[in-house]
Parts: sequence; C-alpha cells; structure tokens
Amino acid sequence: MTAIASPAIHNFVGGKWVTSTSPTGIDLLNPATGEPLGNSPAGSPAEVDAAVQAAHTAFASWRTVPAVDRVQYLFKLKALLELHLDELASLITIENGKTLTESKAELRRGIENVEVACGIPVLMQGYSLEDVAPGIDEIMVRQPLGVCAVITPFNFPQMIPLWFLPYAIATGNTVVLKPSDRVPFSAARLLELFQETGLPDGVVNLVNGGKAAVDALLDHPLVRAVSFVGSTPVAKHVYARGSASGKRVQCQGGAKNHVVVLPDADQETTTKIIADSAFGCAGQRCLAVSVTVTVGEAKDWFRDSIAAAAGSLKVGNGLDPATQMGPVITQASRERVVGLIGQGAEQGAKTIVDGRRTNGNGAGSFVGPTVLDGLPAASPLMETEIFGPVLSVVHADTVDEAVAMIERSAYGNASSIFTSSGAAARKFRTSVSTGNVGINIGVPAPMAYFPFSGWKGSFFGVMHAQGRDAIEFFTDKKVIVERWPKEWSRKF
Ligand code: NAD
Repeated sequence: MTAIASPAIHNFVGGKWVTSTSPTGIDLLNPATGEPLGNSPAGSPAEVDAAVQAAHTAFASWRTVPAVDRVQYLFKLKALLELHLDELASLITIENGKTLTESKAELRRGIENVEVACGIPVLMQGYSLEDVAPGIDEIMVRQPLGVCAVITPFNFPQMIPLWFLPYAIATGNTVVLKPSDRVPFSAARLLELFQETGLPDGVVNLVNGGKAAVDALLDHPLVRAVSFVGSTPVAKHVYARGSASGKRVQCQGGAKNHVVVLPDADQETTTKIIADSAFGCAGQRCLAVSVTVTVGEAKDWFRDSIAAAAGSLKVGNGLDPATQMGPVITQASRERVVGLIGQGAEQGAKTIVDGRRTNGNGAGSFVGPTVLDGLPAASPLMETEIFGPVLSVVHADTVDEAVAMIERSAYGNASSIFTSSGAAARKFRTSVSTGNVGINIGVPAPMAYFPFSGWKGSFFGVMHAQGRDAIEFFTDKKVIVERWPKEWSRKF
C-alpha cells in the first residue's frame, strides 16, 4: 500500500477487519487538495462492545505470555515501521496535511516509544525484601490491568497511538484504539503492521467513530483504563466520565504555549527556532509556541526578524519536498483560524504578517503564517488555543513579568526561554508553571524515555505518557507477604 488504497474504513476486532454498521460520520478530504478520501463512521456502542469483548477474551492468555516473549512482537513492529517509513509518512501527509519531513519526524518519535517498550522485561520488575519479620518475605509485582482504551487526536496520527499501544501490550494488557475520526487511515495502517508481527488475535483492536464510540468506551464495565489525548474540553469530559465509572484515566489536553525572549538571546537561531515552533505542522502541535514575550530590548529586533521568517515560508502540499508548511486539517478549521486572526485585529493587535489570504491551489485548507503584534493582555485571544500558524508577540519589561503571564494561563503544557544567561535560564526553569520547559528550544518534546504531559488545564490525571510513567499507568501493583517456616522449606 503506497497511499490510501481504498476509501473503506473498517474496524479491527479480534484479528479481523470488519465493516462498520454504524451511521455515517464525517466526510474526509485531503487537506492540501480537497480531494475526497472517504467517510468516517460515527461508531456505535455495539461496535465498541464487540472490540472490548475481543480484547477481554484475548487478555486471559496474553497476560500469561512471558514479558520477554511479548516484546518480541515489538522488535518485529520496529522493523516493520522502519521498512514502511516512507509509505507511512506519505499516508500521514495525505490525510493530515503536514509535510513529509514532519510526518517522518513523528514516526521517529513513535518508533522510539516502541524501542523503550522493548525494555519492559526490566522496566516492569517489582521489588522484594527478605525477612521483613523473621521468616517472612515481602514482594511487589506489577500486573497488567486488562482492557485499555486509547483515544487519540488528529494531529499526530501515528505517533500518539504509539505513545500508548507498545507499553500497554508489552505489560500484558490488551487494547482498543479509537483514533481520531479525521485521520482513520493512518491508524488502520498501523494496526495492519501490528497484525503483521503475528500478535495473537484480540491483543490490539480498533474501533472507529466520534463521541458515541468514546462514550461507549468510557461506560464499558470491562474497560479498566483510558488514555486520551485531545482538546481540553473533551479531556475534561473523558476524565470525569471515565473516573466516575471507576477507571484509571490519563487525559492530555490542549495548550497555549509561551516563549520568552531576552535581549541577550542569539538573534538568528532564536528567530529560526521560534518560527519552526510556531509554524511547523501549521501550528497544530500541542507544544507549538503561540505567544512570544519579548523582554526589554528584545522587542527592538524580534518583531522584524520573526516577520521576515514567517513571510519567507513556502506554503503548499506537504508531498512537495519544497513545501515548508502544509494546510490545517479541514476547511472548518481554516475558517476558525481566519476568524480568530480577525478577532485579534479587532481586539487591538497589528497583523504584521497576515496569512488569511493564503489559499494554496484554492481547494485545500491553507492559512499562511501569521504574526499578531501587541495583543492586549485582556484580549480573550490570549487564552484561546488557536491551533493554527498564528504567533502573537507581546512585551514584558522583566522576566518576572513574563513568568507571571505564563502563571496566569489556564494551560500549562510548555514554555521556553531564549537567553545566553545561565542564571536567567535556571530561574525560569525553576519557577515556570508548565510541565515541559525549553531552554533555547522551541518544541520541548520529551524523548520517549521521559514522561510527557503538561500541567494545569493541559493534563488531567497522575501518570504521564511514555517511559516509566507508562509502565506505572498500565500496571497494578500487588504486594505479597509470605511465610515459609524452615521446617517446610527443608522438605523440598
Ligand atoms: P479533539 O478533542 O477534538 O479529539 C480528540 C479525540 O476525542 C478524538 O478521537 C475525537 O474523535 C474524540 N472526541 C471529539 N469530540 C468528542 C466529544 N465531544 N466527546 C467524546 N470524544 C470526542 O482533539 P483534536 O482536534 O483531534 O486534536 C487537537 C487537540 O489535541 C488540541 O487541543 C491539542 O492541543 C491537543 N493535543 C494535546 C496533546 C498533549 O500532549 N497535551 C498532544 C496532541 C494534541
């Protein structure tokens, strides 16, 4: 398969691809060309139940497979992902719109998560202590939970499922993936590769759909845990409803990320890195910078240099290797972003680079890079996640004022500082209220062996995604206290 072989979108249940019988959902268009790609099913409780039942049946034997044998499937998966990297990247670009380079980069981080999960025979180990009292030993073991639901957004169609699936199955759980209904083809192809590893039927399952499918997963009594990534209003809903039915829930939400630029920052690299962060993936990254706060004299040079960088980006179809920025996901998203740029102008910002008229070939959902200068602090847009290629530039007299601005934000996903001062950087990283912090870094995305999550309205739960947190999330700790009197053990 080199791109989208067929517009049909199927569920994957118990090792078989099955046609959805649920009502019609949303029409899918290639965001760069407007060509129809297919139609996402709405999903139904009956389809969710079939997938959960298949996962529940598979769990009984999968949990008894030794961890060292379970990870053999992941070694195969890594090889398959490497083998099909170009094809998978094209698929992401066709349905999501990001450039091929960006699609490959997300696959790289996805593969890195597979690699980390291959270490589960070590990472999943518990601990023990002999003679907690004379002749009594105490042992902690980690055991899988059962059926885990994974609900993912549109902006990283392959990487975000790979934040969860490798860890969940390597620790002995079975999974029902509910991908974004706006990018179902990438998820289906990913599941085909999981299947190609020879995984037992039912260990991974996929059910398509939107709210109906999500709510059915949240209410299903056999679902033990829910991993969600998406916007904050939906994250809150998933966290509340899933927790209310007694499930373990981790929900990554939306973001409004700030970078602070000090006068001593290197002007050229700072501008380049911030432009990459704000406009890469057309601004549709949860770690993208949305607000740049210039401090002191940084105001004098940053505005002109970022305007020049934004204005020089080549916008187009992500399949064209010359393209530096692709479209946003849908026409509705384009209209929303264009409307928000208009609101920024009405609320007092100067549109020093205006992407509203960029329309590519006329059929795609393009918005050009946009820079809004001087948005007033009281503007509602200061708190709105735009999720498009729009950067606001505001000013603060001191670093403390900039940090206070970030503190006031309802979100806490990421923040960065650009400076050559170690003292300023250390003060910033210590005091700032976000879960990810960059020092001269525009997209502070943790490697797969570090936890990934924000703070405040960007995350609901305790255990983050990736790395050791993933092992904690996908396992229950069991403590065994055992007495083996000498006279019994001598009988062996
Ligand atoms: P979304 O919230 O619209 O959708 C996420 C998932 O929830 C999808 O599977 C979708 O089908 C489902 N869903 C949508 N509406 C629902 C509803 N009312 N009830 C139940 N389920 C529903 O998010 P999106 O537009 O696909 O993705 C973009 C958002 O995701 C942005 O807000 C972005 O910041 C966030 N995001 C966060 C992170 C992070 O790590 N914090 C990472 C990537 C994306």
